[in-house]
Amino acid sequence: MSPRGGGERGQPRRAAGAPKPEKVCPACGRPFQWRRKWAACWEQVKYCSDRCRARGTAG
Ligand SMILES: [Zn+2]
Repeated sequence: MSPRGGGERGQPRRAAGAPKPEKVCPACGRPFQWRRKWAACWEQVKYCSDRCRARGTAG
């Protein structure tokens, strides 16, 4: 055994099995999960589908 000082401990946790973000569609009131196609614009995603987006909150 050679004494090694300064070993880096505490590796950063890998996002293994991390829960995906979820939102609630204001049009149909149902929760929907993150999808890959929304990876670039998830913050702007409001509705679960194009249909709901077209429909909006009215109705
Ligand atoms: Zn919806």
